[in-house]
Amino acid sequence: MIDDMLRTPEAIRDAERWTAHNYHPLPVVISSAEGCWLTDVDGRRYLDCLAGYSALNFGHRHPTLIAAAHAQLDRLTLTSRAFIHDQFADFCRELAELCGKDLVLPMNTGAEAVETGIKVARKWGYQVKGVAPGQANIVVAEGNFHGRTTTIVSFSTDSDARADFGPYTPGFTVVPYGDLAALTAAIDENTVAVLIEPIQGEQGVVVPPEGYLPGVRRVCTEQNVLFIADEIQSGLGRTGDTFACDHENVTPDMYLLGKALGGGIVPVSAVAANADVLGVLRPGQHGSTFGGNPLACAVATEVVRLLATGEFQRRSTELGARLHAGLRSLIGRGLVAVRGRGLWAGLDIDPTLMSGREACERLAERGVLAKDTHGATIRLAPPLVITEEEIDHAPPQLPAPLAG
Ligand SMILES: *Cc1c(COP(=O)(O)O)cnc(C)c1O
Repeated sequence: MIDDMLRTPEAIRDAERWTAHNYHPLPVVISSAEGCWLTDVDGRRYLDCLAGYSALNFGHRHPTLIAAAHAQLDRLTLTSRAFIHDQFADFCRELAELCGKDLVLPMNTGAEAVETGIKVARKWGYQVKGVAPGQANIVVAEGNFHGRTTTIVSFSTDSDARADFGPYTPGFTVVPYGDLAALTAAIDENTVAVLIEPIQGEQGVVVPPEGYLPGVRRVCTEQNVLFIADEIQSGLGRTGDTFACDHENVTPDMYLLGKALGGGIVPVSAVAANADVLGVLRPGQHGSTFGGNPLACAVATEVVRLLATGEFQRRSTELGARLHAGLRSLIGRGLVAVRGRGLWAGLDIDPTLMSGREACERLAERGVLAKDTHGATIRLAPPLVITEEEIDHAPPQLPAPLAG
């Protein structure tokens, strides 16, 4: 096929013409997908090593999830929370059981789950802990990514995410990630919560030092502060356990979930916590028109059931070991460092060779789609349904682009 006949350049031009430029997508135009594979408008196939930032943990169009969505589309799609629908209770109960918590509060996007967590923690602080009116503060970590709302970007340390979006929401204290002493020192009598990612995904799959998460748990318990774990990207099987906190046997007071919860089909997020925390909300104090809708619940219930089998966590552990071994063998050959857990890896490329963006463009030419972050870092997070053969397909593609 000669280039002029390809549909890709035209489709890219149209996409750029009609949208705000708040993204810089790779120059591919996808039209269909199945499992770990994407197909573009010209019929080229790519191995998906981003998986929608872990929204596609179960791969594209997992048959169980698609069947649940189809069946629900034919019965009932939306009621609003003004009425109870028949998909609601099962979803909430099964997710609460997966999390080992009393209650869940369903929302749609990850940012909404974070906002919910912040609101609940503040209300808990005033009503249960007895913090003076208007004084509640929440301790967060440098390099965080919790979403894009005005409150959330207020405590971002990424200037692209934050600059020119003020005035900023007060009530947050930022401390270095992985530094328990700094976190402990930042807590005062008005601190209602510590909000952290157990692994910082957007920052480049940064794993905190061993003992950090148990330390955060201990300090939060001692100081009567809620430990909120943003497991929106790290949770639901990605790291080889149901939650990234599980690796160190840590149970936070609140889980924030999203991304994979919607099975790659609909946006579904949730907060899970015990009744002494989530119980502070009364009717009218928080909500969402689409949160917990029948379609979302039907799909997400099947997501929870897939996770309850443990199969995906096991796959992530076993195949993750294979992925990391393959990647570690490239250290010194264009790669400077490899981090991560399970089927999740952050790779630092030698910055004198090329940027992360350039590496991702070259990988795309070789049929592997991944996403760069912060200069010379690439993230790999393939769907958990990836096979050994497919895993082995990705790392060999890496040195070639790095070599130029
Ligand atoms: C993606 C993400 C969010 C925000 O989720 P959206 O659905 O994009 O609003 C929050 N926290 C973490 C850790 C994330 O990875």
